[in-house]
Amino acid sequence: MKKLERVYFLYFCVMSKLPNITTSIFSVMSQLANEHGAINLSQGFPNFPEDERLLQISERLIRSNIHQYTPMAGLPSLLEKIANQTLKQYGRKVNTASEILITAGATQGVFTAINTFVNQGDEVLILDPSYDSYEPSVLVAGGKPVRVSLNDDYTPNFNRIESAISTKTKMIVINNPHNPTGRIWTEQDFEALETILEKHPQILILGDEVYEYITFSQPHISFNTRPKLVERTIIASSFGKSLHVTGWKVGYLIAPEHLMFEMKKVHQFLVFSVNSFSQHAISEYLDVVDFSEVSKMYQRKRDLFQNLIKNSRFELMPCDGTYFQVVNYNQISNKNDVDFAKELIVNHGVASIPISVFYNDATDRHMLRFCFAKTDETLIAATEKLNQI
Ligand code: PMP
Ligand code: GLN
Repeated sequence: MKKLERVYFLYFCVMSKLPNITTSIFSVMSQLANEHGAINLSQGFPNFPEDERLLQISERLIRSNIHQYTPMAGLPSLLEKIANQTLKQYGRKVNTASEILITAGATQGVFTAINTFVNQGDEVLILDPSYDSYEPSVLVAGGKPVRVSLNDDYTPNFNRIESAISTKTKMIVINNPHNPTGRIWTEQDFEALETILEKHPQILILGDEVYEYITFSQPHISFNTRPKLVERTIIASSFGKSLHVTGWKVGYLIAPEHLMFEMKKVHQFLVFSVNSFSQHAISEYLDVVDFSEVSKMYQRKRDLFQNLIKNSRFELMPCDGTYFQVVNYNQISNKNDVDFAKELIVNHGVASIPISVFYNDATDRHMLRFCFAKTDETLIAATEKLNQI
């Protein structure tokens, strides 16, 4: 089909729900990195070996009788362990049977939460720069994404948030620790949100906390610990991020029973149940893994990466959490960030993610995101290249 014909077909025959959405920036940049043999610090995934203990558990389990459907909401032993971990980490007692749902990664958790509650015309507040799956999930539900920019230092701007609320606001999505910027919310931020939302009891919160175990400057504050908000909050977590197995695509949602009951209805017809092998392996692995090690390991990598490029012409932005470091390249180029990121791959052999793609209006402040969830050798090799620019 010719391009014009295709556009006509999509708009008027198929009536695409996502006419303006193209291939995700993560796929685009990873593919470009592969084509040019560049070091890939773009898409967020670790390149170091998996924990030997997880591999041993997996090897043993693959030959055991665990290959049929698990119950719809998840493997009971895994649900139990998540409940224990939530109690240990956040002091929140969640009901194993009614308040936890295993999802095919946080992506499916986010999509399920949004598509369960957002109806035609409902508005959903999304804070920009924002993770790329929120807006399409809202659009598929027939809702209207309302994009609200963070401050220039990527902290939340509560005046903007409050002014964006309308009678149609159904949900606000809050990603903390924040991808792509690496900032985290403070106690004051939560108090400000609580003050605003007290006036709007109908607004639900979707807390995307996939980087909950990766914070440096202060401990992560979870919605699990906010009694004023928790009864209307859905929290998304990802074992892909917390256990360094992004390809396994296993995550979970926690929500009070009245919300979870509705989400399970959607979940059972979207996936029914998540793959059994990964659930069994993760369930066993949770007996031995120590989540407090995760932040320490990534803090060392963040510090290494920062030290290695501190004398380069890239300017480092604060990184309080996640495994992403944002840098400004004003001293190097006037190009827009998408073009500069491509130039960095093609001419200098390092792949990153341009931050403008996470804004509704493509705000370009000459910022790039580098993923430092990599071996020390990879970080050293990449920064050697960055230091020459
Ligand atoms: N939310 C954020 C903020 C992310 O960075 C990611 C990527 N890991 C996801 C959700 C999706 O997580 P998963 O890979 O478990 O689907
Ligand atoms: N969350 C990962 C990132 O931010 C990418 C996940 C994906 O490729 N969809 O890089």
